[in-house]
Amino acid sequence: MSAEITRTSTAEHYDSYVVQNYGRAPLTLVRGAGSKVWDDAGREYLDFTSGIAVSALGHCHPHWVSTVQRQAGELIHTSNLFRNPNQGELARRLVQRAGPGRVFFCNSGAEANEGLLKLARLHGMRKAGGVEGKCYKVICAEKAFHGRTFGGMSATPQEKIQGGFRPLVPGFAFGKLNDLQSFADLIDEDTAAIFIETIQGEGGVNPATPEFLRGLRKLCSEHNLLLLLDEVQCGIGRTGKFYAFEHADVRPDAIGMAKGLGGGFPIGAIWIGEGSADLFKPGSHGTTFGGTPLACAAALAVLDIIEREKLLEHVEAVSAAWHQRLLGLVGKYPQHLSGVRGLGFMVGLQMVDDAAGWVGKLRDAGLLVPMAGGNVVRLLPPLNATTAELEKAVMILDQVLGAST
Ligand SMILES: *Cc1c(COP(=O)(O)O)cnc(C)c1O
Repeated sequence: MSAEITRTSTAEHYDSYVVQNYGRAPLTLVRGAGSKVWDDAGREYLDFTSGIAVSALGHCHPHWVSTVQRQAGELIHTSNLFRNPNQGELARRLVQRAGPGRVFFCNSGAEANEGLLKLARLHGMRKAGGVEGKCYKVICAEKAFHGRTFGGMSATPQEKIQGGFRPLVPGFAFGKLNDLQSFADLIDEDTAAIFIETIQGEGGVNPATPEFLRGLRKLCSEHNLLLLLDEVQCGIGRTGKFYAFEHADVRPDAIGMAKGLGGGFPIGAIWIGEGSADLFKPGSHGTTFGGTPLACAAALAVLDIIEREKLLEHVEAVSAAWHQRLLGLVGKYPQHLSGVRGLGFMVGLQMVDDAAGWVGKLRDAGLLVPMAGGNVVRLLPPLNATTAELEKAVMILDQVLGAST
C-alpha cells in the first residue's frame, strides 16, 4: 500500500468517490491472516464474515498464496477461445464431486444463477417441442436471494432488492420454503424449473429440509422440470459437506456456485447434470473472464486445501459442540436471542431486535459478522477456524449480549 494513503484519506475517498450503495462499517481493513484481520489502526478482529462466505480458508493461506503467485507469473488470462489446463482440471474435480455432467465457469454468484436461468429457458423450449417462449416459468422460494442482475433480482422477491428496477423478467412465481404443496400448486404446463437455495443465506439462514428437497426432486422428475440449486453461499464445504444438498441425498439437475470456490479470488461456476449439459451449444452462452488460468488455480488450491486438511471432516466434527454453545446463549439471553439455525459453519442467530445494532457492538468488541434478513446475525467462520476461535466468538457474543441486559 502506498505511503501517502492515510486513514483519513481513505474515509474521504469513500465519501467523495465511491457509489453509496452499501451500508458499510466505518472500518478500513488492511491485512489478514487465517481467521484474523487488522484495521488501519492496527486493531485485530476475529473475522467470521469471511468476506461473506468467500474467504473459505481464512486470509492468505500459504498454499493458496503461493499457488496464485506462481500462476500469476506463468499465465493469467487467455480467453475461452483456447483451452487451459487449470480449467479442465477444475471442471473434472467439480464433476467428481457433483456427479456425471459438465461445468461452465463464470465470475460471480449472480452470473452463475443467470446461467441456471438460461438453462431453464433452454430446457423449457426442448420440453415444448422446440417452441420458444412458451414453457419458461421458474418457481422460486419466498425470502430467496439469487443476486442483483435482472434474472437474479427477478428470482428474489424482496422489495428492497426489486424496488426501482421494474419491469423485471417475467415468469417467476414463489412458493413457501419447506411447504411442498405451495410449490406443487404453482406448477403448470408452462413451468420449466424449480430454483432454490439449499440454505437461504441473505434471507436469514433458512435451510431447506431434506424431506422438502426430496419432495422437490420428485415433483421435478414427475413434471419434467429442472431442479436448480443455488449453492453460491452454502456450497464448497461451508456446511461440512462439499455441497449442502448432500445432507439430503438428492441429485439436482444443475448447481450454481461461487463465493467460497475461489477462496477470495472471483470465480463462479455451474455444474449441469448429464441429462441437460447438451442444452448449451457453441455460441449459446459465454463470458470473457470465465475460467481463467489464474481463477482456476485459486479454486484448485481451495479444493486441495479442503482435501489435504480434511476441512469437511473438521467442520462436521466441531459444529455440533459449537452449535450447543450458541444455543446456551439463547438460554442465557432470551430477551436478546431467540434461536440458532443453520448447518456447519453457516449459522444464523435469530435476534429479538434489529441485527444491525448487534453487528456494530460485536465489531466494537472485536468480532466481524454479517447480518441477514429478519433480524439475523450470521456467523460464517472460515472452514479452518479452530475450536479456540469458535469458542472466542462465543465468548465475545456472551460479553456483548451480557453487557446489554
Ligand atoms: C451472494 C449470493 C448470490 C450472488 O452472488 P454475487 O457473487 O454477489 O453475484 C447469489 N445467491 C446466493 C445464495 C448468494 O448468497
